[in-house]
Amino acid sequence: MAQDKHSELAHSIEALRIAAGHGERYLRGLEARNVAPNAAALADLERFRKALPEGPSDPAATLDLLARYGGPATTATAAGRFFGLVVGGTLPAALGARVIASAWDQVVFNDGTSAIGVELEKVAAGWLLDLFDLPREASVGFVTGTTMGALVCLAAARHALLAKAGWDATSKGLNGAPRLQVVATAQMHITNAKVLSLLGFGSEDITYVECDEQGRMKPDALPELTERSLVIAQAGNVNSGAIDPIGEICARAKTAGAWVHVDGAFGLWAAAAPQTRHLIAGYEAADSWVSDGHKWLNTPYDCGFAICRWPRAVHAVMATVAPYLKVGDTAAPKDMVPEFSRSARGVEVWAALHSLGREGVADLVDRCCRLARLFASELRAAGFDILNEVVLNQVVATLRGQEARMSEIAASVRASGEAWFGPTRWRGVDAIRLSVSSWVTTEEDVRRTVAAIKAALAQHRA
Ligand SMILES: *Cc1c(COP(=O)(O)O)cnc(C)c1O
Repeated sequence: MAQDKHSELAHSIEALRIAAGHGERYLRGLEARNVAPNAAALADLERFRKALPEGPSDPAATLDLLARYGGPATTATAAGRFFGLVVGGTLPAALGARVIASAWDQVVFNDGTSAIGVELEKVAAGWLLDLFDLPREASVGFVTGTTMGALVCLAAARHALLAKAGWDATSKGLNGAPRLQVVATAQMHITNAKVLSLLGFGSEDITYVECDEQGRMKPDALPELTERSLVIAQAGNVNSGAIDPIGEICARAKTAGAWVHVDGAFGLWAAAAPQTRHLIAGYEAADSWVSDGHKWLNTPYDCGFAICRWPRAVHAVMATVAPYLKVGDTAAPKDMVPEFSRSARGVEVWAALHSLGREGVADLVDRCCRLARLFASELRAAGFDILNEVVLNQVVATLRGQEARMSEIAASVRASGEAWFGPTRWRGVDAIRLSVSSWVTTEEDVRRTVAAIKAALAQHRA
């Protein structure tokens, strides 16, 4: 019997070895290939459009098919010239940790199902609170990304604000509940609107606050805040990278008894580097914060953090046990996030932070910001106007008089395979948007991308 089991697992060992070989070949070929898949690779996707096989086959054949025709149809986000979506690549230690964790097959439900999964989430949570210098007793939920992080934090906020108004939403639900007012930056990321809708807020419940020309909320434009207000501020505008004056917003909100939530999907990392920390001053006074691992920390997907100063409020809305049971340190992961069965994503976060250390994180943030400034200066030299103050890792650029062509330029650079970035519209102007978020990106990548932009312009002129 034991012998049989052993031989079954031998297939897994073999699969792991084959997969590592495929992975290695993929990464070796990455710098030389197109960032976006080419036409041949897209045509080959046809090979996957088959009927469900009637019977089993050799796992090696499955992996071979996947590597042969799947790899070329990927977008090379793991290489250095992907500048879209503010997402990075994957750090070596995080990649390796994911492979190990895949072999482990852990379900991080509680410490009964995965002692190591729970332990590494606890350690990584402590490290994140240390890096961001947030209250050490705050809860940290490892979620699939900032969207789910917002669901955790905003549900906790709703619960806490209603409780303060004398309404126990756990027993009474929302019908007839006191009305809450959501006060959000006019530049709020669209995913928050989805989350608010899931939580029962309609568009009429949201008051949008005017922003300045960089996309920062104007604190003077805040409406009157009360104990029923839920303020959503932003650290890292997806176009400009600008960070709301969170300290000032928190000061006003605290006096009124309002809740402040900070969407820091990528911008919260400004707090982890000495050169950018001043941009986000005062953020630590907020009630909840979300950020991603899969963006600037360069962990694999899906990975985000829901951080809340009030663990009991999170537990009240996320726990699958009675709220009077263990809270705080002893709360099981399943009681602090939406998912019940969940992957061991804390393993990758732990590995990323362990391998970088405090200085490595600061250096990653700083290097991306420096490369964004290099982008800006190279583009300026090529005749572009830089539409944002390049304070973080974001650059928004356009060519005056040729704004309408920016979308075409982005598309032709993507088609050339040299780099990947998107068009945007910023304050009514069509532009291109470049986000530098990958640990792999170098000065050479930036210069090569600007050369590709110039080539696309020349081609369009001809
Ligand atoms: C990316 C992003 C989100 C959504 O994050 P996901 O990890 O994709 O769920 C929310 N807000 C901001 C500012 C973002 O940049």
